[in-house]
Amino acid sequence: MGGSGQPRSAASPRPPSDVARIELNSLAHSYAPKVQRPGDYALRPMNLTWQDGGAYALLGPSGCGKTTLLNIISGLIKPSEGQVLFDGADVTALAPEARNIAQVFQFPVIYDTMSVFDNLAFPLRNRGVRGSEIKKRVQQVAELLDLTPDLKYRASGLSADAKQKVSLGRGLVRSDVAAILFDEPLTVIDPHLKWILRSKLKQIHQEFKLTLIYVTHDQVEALTFADQVVVMVDGSVVQMGTPQALFEDPAHTFVGYFIGSPGMNLLPCRLAGSAAYVGDHPVPLGAETLARAQQAVTPESRVVLGIRPEFLGCSAEENTQSGGVAADITAVEDLGNFKIATATLGGTSVKAKLSEDALLTPGRGWLRFPPERTKLYIDDRAV
Ligand code: ATP
Repeated sequence: MGGSGQPRSAASPRPPSDVARIELNSLAHSYAPKVQRPGDYALRPMNLTWQDGGAYALLGPSGCGKTTLLNIISGLIKPSEGQVLFDGADVTALAPEARNIAQVFQFPVIYDTMSVFDNLAFPLRNRGVRGSEIKKRVQQVAELLDLTPDLKYRASGLSADAKQKVSLGRGLVRSDVAAILFDEPLTVIDPHLKWILRSKLKQIHQEFKLTLIYVTHDQVEALTFADQVVVMVDGSVVQMGTPQALFEDPAHTFVGYFIGSPGMNLLPCRLAGSAAYVGDHPVPLGAETLARAQQAVTPESRVVLGIRPEFLGCSAEENTQSGGVAADITAVEDLGNFKIATATLGGTSVKAKLSEDALLTPGRGWLRFPPERTKLYIDDRAV
């Protein structure tokens, strides 16, 4: 968690009550008063649009800027550069309470001395919602989160899991929110309940069509929850895409490496003729990849070849067809329903994911790089 926020005052204009398309326009943030070098940015300059009703995951390692971005959207932090627009209206100067956004934090934010009912009712009472409506909404949310038996009890007596469910419920109880932001809300929840709650959030998304932004550093959580995953590294968004797009077409080496298990193989190489050379081994490239790479490459470029273990062929039989390269197989692990072969090519270790019945032992072997699955990255960006 980061970003303690700054005191803010409400200002006009007010966003419409059911807004939901959120645009970040040349947005950047530095906690330091002056930006002297790019590394001073907690968030580097970015443009990004979150569509109305989308289920988004914001995925990246600790410290990459996820919480900062979330707090800028909710209004807890005022960005040092750029604007936040809700349906085209500039809300950059608006206080959180004027934004129709609900936020659920990593640790429960609840009032221990109040009953569970009163905790859930709190955001509605704060906005002057009628008593009968409050009762209806609280009962609906309690039902959804299996909190009905706890409604009359004090929150202080609840388990950590149940407290976080109440905290989630407080985020979900308002019907007028344009978006709900979740900052690693299931960290303190036990794994089984985590799975149940994630499915519930998905169900809520499908029923109410709210824009949901869910921060996590766990790829499984991101890929199972979201329609669109926004991957961040080092203060920058490096790709926004469907789980399938992130898997099949990583736009950045970090996405290739971070998503997937094992992650993408990344092999330093150099371009010559129509191939990428990994050490002395030529790996043929697709015509389009080659043409783009030749345009983009400079003598200073860092060129890396990327292939997912799922797409890399590995066998004991000699394979001299296009994409076939001789390599040393150093290990073959049987992981039950698949095998992982590790090989060395040009001094770099690569992994291939094979079917459980693959017949392979360490020793001399052949790798095959299907050209249509072989990506090329120049200075970490896909060509
Ligand atoms: P985590 O997953 O650990 O919560 P994160 O991806 O949410 O990390 P942020 O908390 O947004 O990342 O932090 C981004 C960068 O900004 C980090 O380098 C962090 O140290 C710095 N940072 C965060 N909050 C503050 C603050 N209040 N003052 C100064 N620097 C901060």
